[in-house]
Amino acid sequence: MANKILEIDDLTVSFDGFKALNNLTFSMNEGELRVIIGPNGAGKTTFLDVITGKVQPTQGKVRFKGKKLSGRSEHDIARLGIGRKFQTPRIYLNLTPRENLELCCNQNKNVLATLFKPTPKAERRTVGGLLETIGLDHKADKPAALLSHGEKQWLEIGMLVAQSPDLLLVDEPVAGLTDDETERTGQLLISLAESHSVIVIEHDMEFVRQIARQVTVLHEGSVLCEGTMDQVQNDPRVIEVYLGTETSITPEQMLLLRIAATMAWADGDFEAAEQDIILERLSRQFAQATDDQATLKTELKDLLAKKIPLEELVPQLQTPAQREQALMLSYEVIGANQINQAEASAYHKLVTLLDLPAETVSRLESATMAHGSNGAS
Ligand code: ADP
Ligand code: MG
Repeated sequence: MANKILEIDDLTVSFDGFKALNNLTFSMNEGELRVIIGPNGAGKTTFLDVITGKVQPTQGKVRFKGKKLSGRSEHDIARLGIGRKFQTPRIYLNLTPRENLELCCNQNKNVLATLFKPTPKAERRTVGGLLETIGLDHKADKPAALLSHGEKQWLEIGMLVAQSPDLLLVDEPVAGLTDDETERTGQLLISLAESHSVIVIEHDMEFVRQIARQVTVLHEGSVLCEGTMDQVQNDPRVIEVYLGTETSITPEQMLLLRIAATMAWADGDFEAAEQDIILERLSRQFAQATDDQATLKTELKDLLAKKIPLEELVPQLQTPAQREQALMLSYEVIGANQINQAEASAYHKLVTLLDLPAETVSRLESATMAHGSNGAS
């Protein structure tokens, strides 16, 4: 059996009677990369605060590598091997990335010693290796102030890693980053997970999909569900807690909507008309959804993350009837506007994956067209 790096049992944190964490139970194996998601106020930050010793639990236990953490100071816990990356980088802007990293590899020395004493060879290799890992080797000797926001985040991740923690806690690492930086941050975390256990808290669903193997959803201070990204995204309770409305939507319906959304995203743009169709399908299931259609749409865009390969979604359809529904809905969604090249090829791929008889496909296509959508042929 794999070793547990973190075991949390029946954890409750009360703030003046309000339970930010409520009988939360959680565990993860050594070497795991775990993503934690959940709506605002779910308790994600408090969860990290308890692990790092910033907040003491009202009830329950946290064990790290088998050791109880209760009663230990933040400093002690950090020394046991837990490193936390905050949202705002805490780096020395007037030092270079190399100097920043050297400081972390030399915790017992002060800033001046680091600057003026030659670094021993073994250490330099470590710093060099880290610079390469975080992709900053080409900017190693320029002041950190000149780095982009993303590069500063990577430097801080590198500084954490320099302290060789066994468990890395990372709170919203891609907030404010460009798409390209986001993607590279994902690659960095995946490569760090080869030699560390990592917990990432994140809002950006597309990013979660890029890095996630195992996802834990928090809601009202407890674990709502846990599983792969597919399992979690097909779980109607997850949509429900994000939207804050009751639903009777089934996992099968959710899957259809996600296939349609993926088609809509095919050209990199989830247009308003396309959102309307999906929203209309979804809002039929949500009693109060019409109360705040605009919010619902934004949430929906994130929840139906855009880069879900059809190859992953389509095989989850169970029956021919569901495959036909997926085709109809997708055609309706992309047919809401002029169908462009990207959508046409996504549609072609969908048809191939669905593997429906050719007659069925043309029957459904003309039926959808007849319903008055203005799709081009
Ligand atoms: P998340 O990070 O998932 O958005 P938080 O852990 O920050 O959630 O907060 C969970 C709940 O606990 C929120 O309702 C928040 O208002 C409350 N909370 C967090 N910290 C405190 C505090 N120090 N005092 C009182 N309430 C708090
Ligand atoms: Mg938070």
